[in-house]
Amino acid sequence: MDKAALTAADAGQLRINKRELLGGVGAAAALAMLPRISQAASETWDLIVVGGGSAGLPCAIFAAQQGARVLVVDRAHRLGGTLDRSSGQIAAAGTRLQAKLGIKDSPEAHFDDIMRISKGKVDTELVGVFVRKAAATVNWLSDLGFSPLPGHPVVSGGHEPYLTRRYLWAEQNGVAILRALLPPFFEQARKGSIEFLMRTDALELIQDGEGAVQGVMARDAAGRKIDLPGRKVALTTGGCAANPRMFEELHGAPLYAQLAYPFDLGGGLEMGVGAGGVLRGAEHFQTFFGMVLNDFNVPSTPAPVPVNTVPQARMPWEMYVNSAGRRFVREDHPSVDAREHALLAQDHHRYWIIFDQEIMNNAPAMVRGWDRARMDWAFDKYHFFSRGDSLGDLARWAGIDADGLAASAQRYNAAVSSGSDPDFGRKHMPLPIAKPPFYAIRMQGTQLLSFAGLTVNPQLQVLKGNGQAIPNLYAAGEVLGAGATTGFGIVNGMLLTPALVFGRMIGERVFA
Ligand SMILES: Cc1cc2nc3c(=O)[nH]c(=O)nc-3n(C[C@H](O)[C@H](O)[C@H](O)COP(=O)(O)OP(=O)(O)OC[C@H]3O[C@@H](n4cnc5c(N)ncnc54)[C@H](O)[C@@H]3O)c2cc1C
Repeated sequence: MDKAALTAADAGQLRINKRELLGGVGAAAALAMLPRISQAASETWDLIVVGGGSAGLPCAIFAAQQGARVLVVDRAHRLGGTLDRSSGQIAAAGTRLQAKLGIKDSPEAHFDDIMRISKGKVDTELVGVFVRKAAATVNWLSDLGFSPLPGHPVVSGGHEPYLTRRYLWAEQNGVAILRALLPPFFEQARKGSIEFLMRTDALELIQDGEGAVQGVMARDAAGRKIDLPGRKVALTTGGCAANPRMFEELHGAPLYAQLAYPFDLGGGLEMGVGAGGVLRGAEHFQTFFGMVLNDFNVPSTPAPVPVNTVPQARMPWEMYVNSAGRRFVREDHPSVDAREHALLAQDHHRYWIIFDQEIMNNAPAMVRGWDRARMDWAFDKYHFFSRGDSLGDLARWAGIDADGLAASAQRYNAAVSSGSDPDFGRKHMPLPIAKPPFYAIRMQGTQLLSFAGLTVNPQLQVLKGNGQAIPNLYAAGEVLGAGATTGFGIVNGMLLTPALVFGRMIGERVFA
């Protein structure tokens, strides 16, 4: 889309957003962008924003509002990055919404909650800055029309709860945030303050002899390499959670499922490291509590089987075992963090939900929205649903150690009889696992976030190993790594909110 088209379409901006951006720019349009790329290369931009997603959009908007000339490059065919799939759950203390509802909160209380849930493993300086800035960004989103669900903010949405109601999201999840961000972005584009190039892959940072960043080398839609000069560069490329090789190399754990935005291939990490930056945070890798996958591929895709393992929503009637057939967790543990960390210690972050015919007949639906007939059908349909006439048979079909499973079932059944679980202290044990046929559902712990990311200082400048800032280079969003903002526990909203807040901060300080 060229500028003339943008201007001509001012009145019908929403139509353009939908058709050309959300719908994708076609090959002809990509070719039509070529002159724009040459033009972009002939100007020295105040700021080049690499990646037009959750962090990049506010970064570009705020920089443009300061009067900067901003170039946004994105390898995808559309703006918004992960906002197309993100749950859009954000958190801030001291928002107008909280005040309206009489909720007392403070950045200090938010900070303490983050420290508690992250086990103190976040970058405390960075998070200290974040908690003080977050409310202004959530208020700004409200001004832009972002409207959370009734009853929000809440304390939790599935991860470990906050102690105060500061967590909110909208019906359309991440898309609601994108819809708030696009109008001010296009307003600045119409004014000529923002130029944006889609299907443009940033490859390397251009540096002078002293290492100061002076622009970006990119590959355009036609495969041409081109130097884009810039006084400052913001890396807002997201992480590497769509790049199985890099993800495993950095985290030491396979990327079992493809859930992240497919364009987040780790380019920002490579560029930052190539310019002298250093990574951190991989050691805080964690896994979510598991989902059913479609097949043995790594990465695989999630099967459409929403198994409910949240005790607050459905108490477990089943027993969970690892590949050795051993129980490893109190299945009804109220803390999702405790369950996730127990899974993290298991081989391949994998477990099997084991039950028998009595449980099948009597327990409330384990898969949300499924009746008994659908559950029966699933055992002939899905790879990771197994059935056996004996526990030994089941173990063979499911790929679990048979002796371990037999021993665990025996011990679990004794706990059911006595009403006391000496191994894990489980409370809810309505039925033994005794009546054939027996059933197993294989659950895979998965991850959709990069924990490793670029080291930055509280001004979001990318740092070298010696702690010095790389001149003119900034970073925000998941390229900083989940480890920095969520530590060693999944803290509500502590990826998306910092992406928005830190992206904005870079934009606000473009002339600093
Ligand atoms: C399914 C899902 C649900 C989530 N839910 C939540 C939630 O509820 N709350 C929360 O806090 N977090 C959540 N997250 C995480 C959060 O949404 C992301 O961490 C955050 O949106 C990332 O923002 P970003 O700007 O860093 O990256 P993105 O929004 O992904 O944007 C990065 C952009 O950079 C572009 N890009 C990448 N490499 C290059 C390159 N070399 N050259 C040019 N462009 C490039 C990409 O095309 C993309 O548009 C979720 C993540 C997923 C996958």
